[in-house]
Amino acid sequence: MIFCTRCVYPANHPLNITFDAQGVCSGCRVHEEKDTLDWGARFEELKKITDACRNTSGRNYDCVVRGIRIL
Ligand SMILES: [Zn+2]
Repeated sequence: MIFCTRCVYPANHPLNITFDAQGVCSGCRVHEEKDTLDWGARFEELKKITDACRNTSGRNYDCVVRGIRIL
């Protein structure tokens, strides 16, 4: 069994994680990305996207529901 050299998740993890050449799992690499993202810019981008769904009458809630499928 292969385990992540950082978090020791196993290769048979239910989310189908992958391992890089250093033996670090994809979950750990995604976690690293969180530290380098420009969260302010991403929030502004999110506001632009959700503005298209905003209720303009003032009589209903603004609501966006997005589903993801985990394969
Ligand atoms: Zn890991």
